Amino acid sequence: MKNEKILFIILCAAAFCALLIWAVMPGRVKEAAAQNNGTAPAVMIIDAGHGGADGGAVSKSGAKESEINLSIAIKTEIIANLCGVHSVMTRKDENSLHAQDADTIREQKVSDMKSRVSLVNSYDNALLVSIHQNSYEGKASGAQVFFRKGSEISVETAAAVQENLRLALCESNSRVPAPIPKSAYLFSHTTCPAILVECGFLSDAVESDLLREDGYQTRAALAIIAGYLAALQEQPPS
Ligand SMILES: [Zn+2]
Repeated sequence: MKNEKILFIILCAAAFCALLIWAVMPGRVKEAAAQNNGTAPAVMIIDAGHGGADGGAVSKSGAKESEINLSIAIKTEIIANLCGVHSVMTRKDENSLHAQDADTIREQKVSDMKSRVSLVNSYDNALLVSIHQNSYEGKASGAQVFFRKGSEISVETAAAVQENLRLALCESNSRVPAPIPKSAYLFSHTTCPAILVECGFLSDAVESDLLREDGYQTRAALAIIAGYLAALQEQPPS
């Protein structure tokens, strides 16, 4: 048996054990919410970035960001459900959310973004978790989490997810959370607590290969939910 196959089986077994641990703690979120004086977000909106004609960043080997985002988002939703975290997804397949009368790619991108904004704004007391992959012309690697400035739960969640991603994906990752840029449309047109998770760099050959692996994606998804649950417990009662 090839070493890669053995490693994949070990990773799957580790992910399965982690899932079991979370699955036998159905009261975890309620406990965290109770400690947080009941102010926990009522729903996590899991947003797989890009989709449809907008593939996002592309690795040198041809891996599309939109596909990796979706794969990690689906895993995040499965783990959220196992942990009792109520969640919804902005998209569940490769299609974008544009209106039928949007013809050009630009029109489709604008329409898709407006649909995501309406969906996010239709929920009260939500936490938006947007999943993306990074890209840079120079040498760069490592997951990084961004947060909505001025939102305490966003800052706390970003810090906890960043630490969990470091432990789950690459212990030497020294990146720290940063504010979401004001130019990001989805975040400048919504107001709920929000984090943007850049799981890694598609421009880095080694990291882009890892980001395509099921086991690596599962670890990223586990880190997002584990970080969220940790942040809930650290929030002081309001
Ligand atoms: Zn992106």
